[in-house]
Amino acid sequence: MQILDGKKVSQELALKLQGEVATFKAQNIHPKLTIILVGEDPASESYVRSKKKLAESVGLEFDLIRYTPEEMDTAQLIEKIQELNNDQKVHGILVQLPLPKHIYEPEIIKAIDPKKDVDGFTAYNLGKMFLSTDFEELAPCTPLGVIRILESYNIDILGKEAVVVGASNIVGKPMGVMLLNRKATVTICNSKTRDLAAQTRRADILVVAVGKAKFITADMVKEGAVVIDVGINRGEDGKICGDVDFENVAPKTSFITPVPGGCGPMTVACLMENVVKAARRLSGLTTEKTS
Ligand code: NAP
Repeated sequence: MQILDGKKVSQELALKLQGEVATFKAQNIHPKLTIILVGEDPASESYVRSKKKLAESVGLEFDLIRYTPEEMDTAQLIEKIQELNNDQKVHGILVQLPLPKHIYEPEIIKAIDPKKDVDGFTAYNLGKMFLSTDFEELAPCTPLGVIRILESYNIDILGKEAVVVGASNIVGKPMGVMLLNRKATVTICNSKTRDLAAQTRRADILVVAVGKAKFITADMVKEGAVVIDVGINRGEDGKICGDVDFENVAPKTSFITPVPGGCGPMTVACLMENVVKAARRLSGLTTEKTS
């Protein structure tokens, strides 16, 4: 069994991006990420801190715009996003989710210019992914991170049985599409899947994004499988843990991501990759692929 070291791979990716950002700066292009945070959700605060830290270490310009929930409603937030859409100095716009309940999330995501949608959550960017890998321009950062970590360890996807547990719009569904684009045979499971273990046991590559601590147990995993644990949960002992019962599952696997230190850092690094991509395209260094 080998650990898929997301921290290491994310640092390698960050270093590569640092070089690219330096070449942009030499051409007077200063890639900039702007994050909007409404409220003081502790998990969001922590995610934003790690995004800021990595953005700065890669050499990106970074701006955090904070609002209290009372200061913002849906219309006001859309207005702010439109201002950023029109700001040529901003290349990436990220609205930290979840938003307070009185703000309607789908309308907010829809307001982001797809060219600056570095989270890859707009219908435009999600829809384009269906075409092929060539059109995965601003892909959602978490599934993109999974692909990058598999690539980094030279794990073949082509022809493999890939099972994704979890079907959210931001992780499970795009993950399934990205694996399918790379010629895996893909099954995406959700809360109504019958006999989940029968599905997961077929997986050569098992990606889990459910949000339930230690949900995947050793009996649900095939000997030699590659297991990618996207989940971030707080276990009964108060420690961060994934969706996979790591201690008992790991010995059966060929490769497995730890939590923390697996998908989490890869997600943040892939956000930076998307900001660099967006800056490249917005500055006319590449053109958008359209069908
Ligand atoms: P989500 O929106 O809550 O979606 C969870 C998915 O799991 C849903 O599709 C749900 O099915 C499915 N599910 C729930 N119970 C199930 C069961 N018993 N069997 C099979 N599927 C089941 O969550 P998410 O945003 O995708 O996130 C999932 C986890 O990943 C969370 O722990 C989150 O914190 C973590 N996460 C980590 C990162 C990272 O950077 N590492 C990024 C994003 C998310 P239905 O569709 O039927 O409801």
